[in-house]
Amino acid sequence: MEQSLRKLRKALDDRKISSKELTEEYLKKIETENSRINAYVNICSEEALSGASSADERMSRGETGPLTGIPMAVKDNICTKDIITTCCSNILKNYNPVYDATAVKRLYLAGSFTLGKTNMDEFAMGQTTENSIFGSTRNPVNTDYCAGGSSGGSAAAVAAGLAPFALGSDTGGSVRQPAAFCGVTGFKPSYGAVSRYGLIAYASSMDQIGVLAQSADDCAIVFNEMLGNDEKDMTSVRPGSAEYGRLASGMKECFSAVNAEDAAVSLPAGGNGKLRIGIPEELFDDANPECAAAVLSAVKEFEKAGAATVPVKTDRLKNALYAYYIIACAEASSNLGRYDGIRYGRRVLGTDIGDTVIKTRNAGFSGEVKKRIMLGTFALSHGYYDMYYKKACDLRSRIRAGFNELFDSVDLVITPTVTRTAFKSGEAAALSTAAYAEDRLLVPANLAGLPSLSVPVGKDKAGLPIGMMITGKGFADGLVLSAGRFYQEGGRL
Ligand code: GLN
Repeated sequence: MEQSLRKLRKALDDRKISSKELTEEYLKKIETENSRINAYVNICSEEALSGASSADERMSRGETGPLTGIPMAVKDNICTKDIITTCCSNILKNYNPVYDATAVKRLYLAGSFTLGKTNMDEFAMGQTTENSIFGSTRNPVNTDYCAGGSSGGSAAAVAAGLAPFALGSDTGGSVRQPAAFCGVTGFKPSYGAVSRYGLIAYASSMDQIGVLAQSADDCAIVFNEMLGNDEKDMTSVRPGSAEYGRLASGMKECFSAVNAEDAAVSLPAGGNGKLRIGIPEELFDDANPECAAAVLSAVKEFEKAGAATVPVKTDRLKNALYAYYIIACAEASSNLGRYDGIRYGRRVLGTDIGDTVIKTRNAGFSGEVKKRIMLGTFALSHGYYDMYYKKACDLRSRIRAGFNELFDSVDLVITPTVTRTAFKSGEAAALSTAAYAEDRLLVPANLAGLPSLSVPVGKDKAGLPIGMMITGKGFADGLVLSAGRFYQEGGRL
């Protein structure tokens, strides 16, 4: 079952297994395993089986797309038509979208279908899924620990073999962090590479839909079906633009690196013909020593194959964490203003409109979400705007400029994905806002809109997975994925 997407494709094409059999196997495993880890909050057996039957029919007619017959898990903040999408919040508990997110629609067109919706922190605000109205997702590696968040359900589903791949969203690390904690691969594309239409907004200037899977190769296959312009998302990449060109050529190179099934993937070339990898030493010093050591030894694989590693300074990325949390909360306070009990979602009737809005929001949002709405409203309010929001935006420009400067001298930057391994259940909640600090390696890529990938690189003494993060310049998604593929497939020299 735990097979790569290429192997699944081959097994389906060779009629070794039908999509219906494959889907039944996943559903059976979900039935026995999900109560232990709580990865899925909504299991869509009926939809999945009917998706599988129609995929089998299409395959029998020779109409095979890259993902035909291969099911997926979808984070519960990504809209799926006629499948309840709750954001793991009481305020959207019975929300039944009337449309599919563009990313989902494109994957359906490529032949996939939904097995179920996965657990997450309410409105994607958190690091553990403990802010979910459905209870937290446990880490399949060790259930005393959290799966991470906010896309913890998606990461755990892939890690436990309950889905071949899953969609997540990454506003400040929510694909990469749970991927690192559960020992799977997680990819956050460049901002604008995948349409956000149908992704329920948290912080719109940073939100991106990403992929969690068993390998960078699987992530590349799925990403390749989702990417591109969408007239419903004005921030999606425009055909004909330089960014589009970079994205398309990078993906082409990524796929042409492997033709024969078992051939070793070669080291990607990078801009100068020789791959240059930036190593920010102070960020390694900032991480726990076991994480830093595991990542540094993984970097050696690149060196052995001829990549140049270059020590780089990241002074200009300092304080990214503060900029992130101010901007994220500010945008959330505005985005979440729409949940007023009038238009859609849950309503708690009050004595008049004002009272209805107050009662609805009070009952519909839980503590973490309310805290962020209040922080964000404060940062945007008259008299404080310049002091907080504007300052955070200035910092963001500095961070962008800092990355531009960095990418003049290197093609990729590698660091540990997270400063640490998975939180024990309850640990992050006890730390409260102090836990936010553990996002510090993750958020710079979101502030600058860069593609960033987490690949597993071993385990700590407690047996918990460690992730290595590979980040590239905007729309160098193909290069980032190629580097991940090289490490996972060709790096075994
Ligand atoms: N931990 C971050 C936050 O709570 C990540 C969120 C995300 O990427 N959705 O804001």
